[in-house]
Amino acid sequence: MCVRNAERYKIPFKGLKEGEHTFDFEIDRSFFESFERSEIKEGDLHARVNMQKTPRLLTLEFHISGSVRIPCDRCLDEFEMPLSFRETLFVKLGERFEEESANTIIIREEDGAFVISQYLYEFVHLALPMRRVHPDDENGHPTCNPFMLKKLKELSVSVDPKETEMTDQRWSALKDYFKNAN
Ligand SMILES: [Zn+2]
Repeated sequence: MCVRNAERYKIPFKGLKEGEHTFDFEIDRSFFESFERSEIKEGDLHARVNMQKTPRLLTLEFHISGSVRIPCDRCLDEFEMPLSFRETLFVKLGERFEEESANTIIIREEDGAFVISQYLYEFVHLALPMRRVHPDDENGHPTCNPFMLKKLKELSVSVDPKETEMTDQRWSALKDYFKNAN
């Protein structure tokens, strides 16, 4: 775990009285850079965490909003995708760390603080839609890189027959192979 994140994204629950507590975190470029495999390289998000504390359970409600920069699936240029979502995490206080389910974990009570960076990271990535493309403008036209759109159009006309031909060639080569093998 990144040491800086451990300091920056932690919820110190020890000594807090029961009831509700609020914490605020900024998720920026340096946050994503600290995760080597992060699909998102740049972002500017705010996370507000409302924590309900009871003797054995912390209920954390995350409200995350802002934007991330990701490559467009269609034209490959990066664009800003707005995100705004909520997640709930149930954190039981116990003897040792354990993941009970997707949103329920047990942490060591004696640690006194809970580092949430890994959860913030996962939540933001899970919030990304399957299809990531530039939004359309007010006239319903894509705002993608116009040069790439033009190229894609040209390719979609010319690539298909070639692809079919290639596939056929590979098929017949395979068929020959099996014929000879017998
Ligand atoms: Zn695009």
